Amino acid sequence: MERDIFPVVHGVRGKPFYSVRMRASRHGRHLSGAERLIPASRLAAAVTALLRRGVSSPVQQPDRVILRVDPVAPRLLHPLSALPIQTLKVSSPAQGRLLASRLLQASGVAPRAVRRAMRDLRRGAAGGGQCMRGAMLVDAQSGRRLEADPQRGVRVSRVDWDARVERRLVKRLARYGLTHHRLREALALASKVAAAPGMVAELCWSDDPTYTTGYVSTPRLGYVRIAPLKAEGDPLGGRAFFIRAESLSACVAFLERIPCRIVALGSLTPPRTWRA
Ligand code: AMP
Repeated sequence: MERDIFPVVHGVRGKPFYSVRMRASRHGRHLSGAERLIPASRLAAAVTALLRRGVSSPVQQPDRVILRVDPVAPRLLHPLSALPIQTLKVSSPAQGRLLASRLLQASGVAPRAVRRAMRDLRRGAAGGGQCMRGAMLVDAQSGRRLEADPQRGVRVSRVDWDARVERRLVKRLARYGLTHHRLREALALASKVAAAPGMVAELCWSDDPTYTTGYVSTPRLGYVRIAPLKAEGDPLGGRAFFIRAESLSACVAFLERIPCRIVALGSLTPPRTWRA
């Protein structure tokens, strides 16, 4: 049944797109991962870039890097608009988390669900002080974790920018000095996440100890960057997707399987300061 609804066609005629996924690990422990969805003309460059990124993981030297390439029929690409972007500067990570908590609650996430998800992200959501490879799925009402495997979580893949739209985004972001590739990648991911069935909101801060900006994103508020959302030097981070529990299987199928191409930009609001 699911195969009929979400077909993945191999060996299509014409110019296929490719889903490329990279995973780097050491002694079986996940170090980094990334995914692209690109036309055939950019496949070789994307594979090289992901391989380079995998072998030079910022955390530790990996002992295994896996690259996986799957063709995707262009007719299956689901067009998406990027979420609008705002940046709110705060005076400390504590203020950042207070702001994130307020935004999530204003978007329909119950206070206990916010508290539980933030606690898990703070401690390492995989347990034992470790980060997950993917995202937590959190019931937006009860705060219960819904993902089948709490170490892996749900890994969003098959989303990327149309090249022309990405170039326009890069130019717009540069006006505000926002040049980090993480922002473009996270915005693509968040734009797909916000379009998933049953999605209420997303919360993210990075596991990169040097990258302290995080975000809350929702279909209504858009992509709200919060700087800082964690302390410099903190190696723990992750993502929580707050969902309506009854949409669990449709939501996971969309996030993991449906290929999405971002073909339009949302608005970009100049960075501003937030005070409680
Ligand atoms: P990053 O923003 O790359 O530092 O990732 C922060 C955290 O988000 C990681 O530790 C993972 O738990 C999670 N994550 C990264 N990439 C994905 C993805 N494609 N889908 C779901 N979760 C992800």
